[in-house]
Amino acid sequence: MKLFSDYHSHPQGHRVQPYSRELLQPWIDSARAGGLNDIAFTDHDRFHAGIDFGEIDKLRAANPDLKIRAGIELDNDPQTSGAGRKWVEKNWDKLDFVLGSVHYLDDPTQMFDSVPDGAGQFVGRSIDEIYEDYFHRVRDIAATGLVDCLSHLDLIKIHGHRPCGDVRSIINETLDFIRSRDLAIELSTAGWRKPVDELYPSDRIIKLAIEKEISFTTASDAHSHVQLAENFDRLTGKMSILGVREVCVYDKHKREVRKL
Ligand SMILES: [Zn+2]
Ligand SMILES: [Zn+2]
Repeated sequence: MKLFSDYHSHPQGHRVQPYSRELLQPWIDSARAGGLNDIAFTDHDRFHAGIDFGEIDKLRAANPDLKIRAGIELDNDPQTSGAGRKWVEKNWDKLDFVLGSVHYLDDPTQMFDSVPDGAGQFVGRSIDEIYEDYFHRVRDIAATGLVDCLSHLDLIKIHGHRPCGDVRSIINETLDFIRSRDLAIELSTAGWRKPVDELYPSDRIIKLAIEKEISFTTASDAHSHVQLAENFDRLTGKMSILGVREVCVYDKHKREVRKL
């Protein structure tokens, strides 16, 4: 089994850096060196100003051996996601793939997944309630009709907080909702470089998703081109054990399932 696709990458990193050949070509070179032949650029929607579809087309023409998908990661930032949604609606036909993410809980000024500072948002609070709240927000993003796939589905575990009670029903309902909307979820190796040191999502969630016949993408959430396909060997092992034998790719929001 050989993984060939990475559907979560941030060429601009953490700031607006307009798309250009200089910015993007190293990502293609790294993808090729890592054995990938299908990648999606999914910069954060707050940096949509840097995305240039013309530059992506030029990159495609110069690298015909790779599928290069135009994408974005739309999140729930209370300050920027309104503009992000409008941009996604406006550019829907040019985009291949949209990720939906929850990075914000009650604090509108700080992503809960900033490491280590975001962990402060969990202090003195009921972890079960935080989990419930988080998965409701995941459903809100899924319900926008503007996303193809949910990223890092159980990101809420990032700092290692675990629910005390049983949160299976909320996770089950969330997966049912995702299935009803015919959305995919990603298998993200990013969790392995975070304090929780665990794949997103957990084995239990993956097993439930398999039962519900939800499709998966494979993803690194690379913020540097050297992180593309990071830990994909380890992911391959995990997928073999769990029985995931196919992944999906997207062309203009149309899902195509590929056997591995
Ligand atoms: Zn994210
Ligand atoms: Zn991301």
